[in-house]
Amino acid sequence: MLKSLKLVNYRSFSKLYLKFHPKKNIILANNAKGKSNVVEAIYMLSFLKSFRTERNAELIKFGNASSYASFEYLANDILNRIEITIEPKGKLVKQNDKMIKNAKEYNQRFEAVLFEPFDLNILKGAPGLRRKYIDSILTRLSPSYRDELLSYNKVLMNRNKALKMYKDKNSLKAILKSYDTQLITLGAALVEKRKTFTENFNTICKDIHKELSGTDELNIVYKSNIDIEKDIKKAYEEAFNANIDKDIDRKSTALGPHRDDYAISINENEARKFASQGQLRTAMLSMKIAELKMIRSFNKDVTLLLDDVFSELDKKRKKYLLDAVGDMQVIFTLQDMDDIKDLIDDDYLIIKLETNE
Ligand code: ATP
Ligand code: MG
Repeated sequence: MLKSLKLVNYRSFSKLYLKFHPKKNIILANNAKGKSNVVEAIYMLSFLKSFRTERNAELIKFGNASSYASFEYLANDILNRIEITIEPKGKLVKQNDKMIKNAKEYNQRFEAVLFEPFDLNILKGAPGLRRKYIDSILTRLSPSYRDELLSYNKVLMNRNKALKMYKDKNSLKAILKSYDTQLITLGAALVEKRKTFTENFNTICKDIHKELSGTDELNIVYKSNIDIEKDIKKAYEEAFNANIDKDIDRKSTALGPHRDDYAISINENEARKFASQGQLRTAMLSMKIAELKMIRSFNKDVTLLLDDVFSELDKKRKKYLLDAVGDMQVIFTLQDMDDIKDLIDDDYLIIKLETNE
């Protein structure tokens, strides 16, 4: 549960200090007052990276050399503080005054689920965005998945480097074979977990989506470039052997979970190509509520961050979302209280971002 946030020279803020309600928070301000900047800072303190940029310099208020963000939160009733000092070349992270080097050393991480307008691109955009989205859920649900994914990406990078470097085909083939043993084992483990996850995720999404849309049938299926109904490891072994000359010609690795996708359809039509804007929003909302449910079954202390999406929903969907949130902590950004007024009680803490000192 998020208690407070402090920003110094972060994005548009010279200084900002906010205290949060244990459950219900609304950040209220007009355009360009820094609502998304606040949500981004909270997300960054949770995931140790921004969802908007990979460039540190963008997070530093123009004209300054560094920025600072910190928050305090309760996890299992224990108060934690995370502080990040951001310089163009890197970030320094401290948890309770102790330096941490990476996400692995981050204990009792502040767990958040974010829903923001760019998320619609998960449905509309390239396969990489869907892989990244599902990977972000899986890495939070399973530390072993996170480790396998990191190892897989490392081996894949080395394999691709070798493909670009070696000119002699025979010595290259010997090197590739040594990478492929690892790549196949790790790749098969990733695909196995993604496949099982997708089946569970699909069941939950489908039910929510049915209720929200009334009639539409949402379906999410893992789509691999090998036959995953058979023994996955065996299928990769065969496919890698058959593909080795092609990979050498193209100097890249054509097969593996890094090239897979998730087929998302509404009433059997591919959502990416055929769904209307409203249908996409309902599908994304269903997926976000399903994500929330899954993360929550793993870690009860989850905070929902909703940037800008509330005003886009109709009354039925707003109500459904508020019901799904139940008694967990939620932080909405809003421009206009009219968007929510008749749906909420007086318990909400309304945080106004009036001034950008
Ligand atoms: P909207 O309602 O339009 O979504 P918002 O309240 O979410 O607006 P933000 O996206 O948080 O607004 O941005 C607020 C302002 O922060 C923008 O005007 C932007 O130019 C400014 N800004 C972003 N990065 C920096 C930076 N590094 N230094 C100074 N200002 C910045
Ligand atoms: Mg915004």
